[in-house]
Amino acid sequence: MYDRIFNFSAGPAMMPEPVLEEIRDELLNYRGSGMCVMEMSHRSAVFQSIVDQAEQDLRDLMGIPSNYKVLFIQGGATLQFSMIPLNLMKNGKAVYIETGGWSKKAIAEAKKVGEVVVAASSQDKNYTYIPDCADLDIPDGADYLYICENETIHGVTWPKLPNTKGCPLVSDQSSMFLSKPCNVSDYGLIYAGVQKNVGPAGMVVAIIREDLIRDDLGSLPIYLQYKAHADAGSMYNTPNCWAIYVCGKVFQYLKSTGGLDEMHRRNQDKAQVLYDFLDRSTLFHGTVEKEYRSLMNVPFVTGSKELDAEVVAAAKAAGFDNLKGHKSVGGLRASIYNAMPKTGVASLVKFLEKFETEHK
Ligand SMILES: *Cc1c(COP(=O)(O)O)cnc(C)c1O
Repeated sequence: MYDRIFNFSAGPAMMPEPVLEEIRDELLNYRGSGMCVMEMSHRSAVFQSIVDQAEQDLRDLMGIPSNYKVLFIQGGATLQFSMIPLNLMKNGKAVYIETGGWSKKAIAEAKKVGEVVVAASSQDKNYTYIPDCADLDIPDGADYLYICENETIHGVTWPKLPNTKGCPLVSDQSSMFLSKPCNVSDYGLIYAGVQKNVGPAGMVVAIIREDLIRDDLGSLPIYLQYKAHADAGSMYNTPNCWAIYVCGKVFQYLKSTGGLDEMHRRNQDKAQVLYDFLDRSTLFHGTVEKEYRSLMNVPFVTGSKELDAEVVAAAKAAGFDNLKGHKSVGGLRASIYNAMPKTGVASLVKFLEKFETEHK
């Protein structure tokens, strides 16, 4: 009815259709308030109930322990590249693992703040695997160990968390947030830009252990202090009200569809369809070592730039959009987040099979 297509964008990305429909139904008059959520004061009781419900639903979904704060902050995931070292580098030193484009960017920003020790890197093979992090050389006094848990561009994911040897673990979960169960107490700080797997762009969810929130950072610009956001319940200033509202809807949707275990089952099932195809295809090849393949972002190539471009164009014409790979990897990339239905992936595979037969 709405002529929607299968959108394989890495982000902003597909949303669950029932959520879009609910938003449509509430757009002009949110539950008898006589106004749209976009028009509401963030200090109103009705909006406060939206934020409170969103936080509670996220806590329920992930099983977030009570000694962690949930913060909704603007500036996207990118601002966290700076906020993390500015807030957590007490001794001025942190360990980073370099596994792709996004951890690389985080490293560059952290270097502006303090000493960065890159304890492991997979750059030697163009970020197609996760290095062994069972016995890292972690220097004394390191404030935290930083990872990007799913590299959106390179399509690699951590099958197992690193051995931090007691150091707080900081994880960028932007492109895998809520895609599977997560044991929050393994981490000091988890953050995610929501536009990959959850909601509209322009907001990050940060889940931070309370003892990492410092109150001795008075000289840091107020907006960059986790404490300011935590003390004000994510409303130090006007928050991204719309994003909070939509994310809250997605949290409820995930709860009603069986939670993160069920989401994980569906995501594995869905990704398998595409990886099985790539493994049997003689034209298309996945670029990542099997053990580290992402369930969310699937990069693949034909080996010919011209043919890659031809596939992307033909796919778009057939209703499969945004399959062009990131410029640093080339080829194609299918982002198949929570909201991508299995039929979307199965239809794409059918299309690629047909393309392959015609180009033998
Ligand atoms: C997209 C992305 C970012 C950057 O997000 P912005 O909201 O655009 O700042 C950071 N990390 C990862 C893993 C991402 O996928």
